[in-house]
Amino acid sequence: MNRLRAETTLTGLPVSKGIALARVCLFNETRHSNLPIYKVDGEGVQKEMARFERAVSVTGERLEGIREDVAIRVGKAEAEIFFAQKTILEDESVNARVKELITERKINAETAVTAALDGFEARILELDNEYIKERATDFGEVKRRLLDVLSNMNPGLQCSDQAHCQKGRDRIIVAQELTPTLTVDLDTAHTIGFVTERGGANSHAAILARALGIPAISNLTDIHSVLSCGTELLLDGYSGEVVVMPSDETVARVRAAHPQELRAPNPVDPVSGFRVLANVNGVADATLAVDLLAEGIGLYRTEFELINAGRMLDEDEQYERYAAVLKVMKDKPVVFRLFDIGGDKPAPFLQMPREDNPYLGWRGARFLLAREDLLAMQARALARAAQHGPVSVLYPMIVDLEQFRRLRSVFEKATGHLPQSNIRHGVMFEVPSACLDADALLAEADFGSIGTNDLIQYLFAVDRNNELVAYDYDPGRAVLWTLIAQVARAAANHGKEMSVCGEIAAEPAYISRLLGAGIRTVSVSPRLIPCARVAAAAHLEHDKRSS
Ligand code: PEP
Ligand code: MG
Repeated sequence: MNRLRAETTLTGLPVSKGIALARVCLFNETRHSNLPIYKVDGEGVQKEMARFERAVSVTGERLEGIREDVAIRVGKAEAEIFFAQKTILEDESVNARVKELITERKINAETAVTAALDGFEARILELDNEYIKERATDFGEVKRRLLDVLSNMNPGLQCSDQAHCQKGRDRIIVAQELTPTLTVDLDTAHTIGFVTERGGANSHAAILARALGIPAISNLTDIHSVLSCGTELLLDGYSGEVVVMPSDETVARVRAAHPQELRAPNPVDPVSGFRVLANVNGVADATLAVDLLAEGIGLYRTEFELINAGRMLDEDEQYERYAAVLKVMKDKPVVFRLFDIGGDKPAPFLQMPREDNPYLGWRGARFLLAREDLLAMQARALARAAQHGPVSVLYPMIVDLEQFRRLRSVFEKATGHLPQSNIRHGVMFEVPSACLDADALLAEADFGSIGTNDLIQYLFAVDRNNELVAYDYDPGRAVLWTLIAQVARAAANHGKEMSVCGEIAAEPAYISRLLGAGIRTVSVSPRLIPCARVAAAAHLEHDKRSS
């Protein structure tokens, strides 16, 4: 099954109300898949019986401990769930069945426990009573608890991506089944939500999730296999919708509908040796970026000011918007990308021609060269705004040095009557030809930023918005990282700043690769700033310890 990489909405069964936005921690439920299976004889049988009895007693103590804890943290009624499990654990017929299997079939305790409890669970699932069927999970729970003791495993979260998962803290837990154990073994004070493949609204776990006030959605078949640890999810525990990799617009819509529930994340202090800037579309995002301690704006997508207004803005209107962002940022760096019109950002109010292949057509730099009047107007608005703070101008979709020179000269000619000392000119590296020619471009440009969203699209000839080919939109391929490292090296050789502003810059799983490729500055959606910092700090700390 392919991992999802673009915004995708899935609908499941809402089992606990609330809204949640956080990264995924995949709960690894295969921990008992490699248990030993062996035959025993003579003394061996007694040994297995003793192991089983010990497992029952340790599990009983653990369940009692959980029961007391849940009674205090959640409530007495919810604590009784664990009494129900203890009853199964100590049930005579259950115990007798396990012992019978050990003595008669002469098998080890793990194999006997699995066979006995799976048998009970299967029989309950055959019954024609939905309420009783929901209780079948408890047999599975007791089995897992016993196997944890028999195999000396710690119960609880076993994430497949320990380096980035923060052990479920501040995460949405994705599991095949939301078991009561999972619900309470986690640090629930810091669990943001649950998503599961199975489990009804009346399951014990759903009851617990509701009591704990944690949003939960169930019945999302195969979700476990289409997500990776660290992917961002938006859960709507009212409608049952799960949005994988939600866009800023989707988050803003849900935040507006549930302002009390979807608060901004807590800020994380800057990390020495790794700068985190913000990608913004306007002053509202910039304000959030300041609240989340952004060290500047690494990508202001100015074309969204036009797209949101639904018309071309005149010079004064543009100036006001740019000045507002600079004022909010109080002298911190702000990178203004010139209008990146075309492709997935059409602007019908500009009477764009219909194209068969807009991604390879009249967009970005080509559009600006064709509409020098619009570029000159934006240049004047930016140069005027530069009186409020430093302005870095980023040229989109640059293909070669010649194109950058021509655009820059239009900018400079249009603003020759205004001070230039507060203005820098940079290249966006998102077309493979520009990356391959980074040395020449960075000899002239003041700085650069790698736009991996488009770079991946053009490098692998794969539409960034087409779900049918999403499996091929794969940032993991080595050739991408060779190219990123090459651009970073060219920047270092020329003493120029280089950042990465595509979506991968916010993926915890890629932070270490970015650092390895020589990238020390990223620009991400404001709400992802804390997360990028946590991942970078963990990686830098790990490096320090191992050196
Ligand atoms: C990019 O291409 O990586 C980028 C940051 O720009 P956009 O997503 O706006 O095309
Ligand atoms: Mg781009």
